[in-house]
Amino acid sequence: MKPAPFDYAAPRTLDEAIDLLGRHGEDARPLAGGQSLMPMLALRLSRPSLLVDLNRVESLSGIRIDDDELRIGAMTRQAEALESAEIRRHVPLLAQALAEVGHPPTRARGTIGGSLAHADPAAELPAVIVALGAKLVIRGATGERVLRAEEFFRGMFETDVKAGELLVEIRIPIQAQGSAFLEIALRKGDFAIVSVAASIALGPDQRCVAATLVLGGVGPMPVRCADSERRLIGHTPDAAAISAAAEAIPIDRVELGSRSASRGYRRRVAPVLVKRALAAAAGAAGAAP
Ligand SMILES: Cc1cc2nc3c(=O)[nH]c(=O)nc-3n(C[C@H](O)[C@H](O)[C@H](O)COP(=O)(O)OP(=O)(O)OC[C@H]3O[C@@H](n4cnc5c(N)ncnc54)[C@H](O)[C@@H]3O)c2cc1C
Repeated sequence: MKPAPFDYAAPRTLDEAIDLLGRHGEDARPLAGGQSLMPMLALRLSRPSLLVDLNRVESLSGIRIDDDELRIGAMTRQAEALESAEIRRHVPLLAQALAEVGHPPTRARGTIGGSLAHADPAAELPAVIVALGAKLVIRGATGERVLRAEEFFRGMFETDVKAGELLVEIRIPIQAQGSAFLEIALRKGDFAIVSVAASIALGPDQRCVAATLVLGGVGPMPVRCADSERRLIGHTPDAAAISAAAEAIPIDRVELGSRSASRGYRRRVAPVLVKRALAAAAGAAGAAP
């Protein structure tokens, strides 16, 4: 199938892009890496009358450190982020997850912002961005607003970005902690059936002072496991504490099922993956074996 006819604009500045999107509202769609949008156009699942190509807007790309935050422009390619020494050093959880996103050719075009804005429930980056406590900067004709990652995702393939707005930047706090990202997928490079993003910070007495646990691929949006996190705080992250945390994941929020991976299968796999991810995060945080 071919896409329905559309007009095409390739602005060079962010203001120009926002102006075009604002004037055309629901009829316009931003084009980032095209790895999800182009198939959607070809299948006529999306029929915008105007595509606003962001690929020439240089100010939307780049990775930098500002105060205690790592800031990633929405148009930064997934491949560039995966290779970034700053991301590996300061936010290794993101680097671990990026290695599981698609394949080298899709990562060469696909962008960090495009993956988040697309909000595929099986995508790796939404769960990671929630686990990292990131903030997302959204810009429209009336100005800029900053959302916590948990406020950004609204449902399956749905975010808080309104017609006429763009996700422009992702801000990730830099914290000293051990982290791990694990997933089960049918093949390397496939979308996740279940993914787990975990991080642990230890105090000098080897007890957890902070813990984050987020599931992906199981519900319309990333699932934060707050009870599990609470069960870890104040404890050494040994096998017993990790098992208690895994038992506390909100299993009723493991809702999705597909032909290749039923809901029951995901409910069995999730706690196993959680235990492995928490053990790996504890090891990375320097927990005694
Ligand atoms: C073969 C293949 C395998 C893949 N495997 C995986 C995988 O395992 N895991 C995974 O997570 N993804 C996977 N993907 C998807 C890939 O990661 C895409 O890059 C991603 O979903 C979309 O990013 P993009 O930059 O290509 O965005 P586009 O396809 O250009 O856009 C996606 C959507 O987001 C909107 N959008 C884009 N940028 C912005 C912005 N800055 N502000 C507001 N809205 C915006 C667009 O209008 C569109 O609706 C795969 C894709 C392919 C083709």
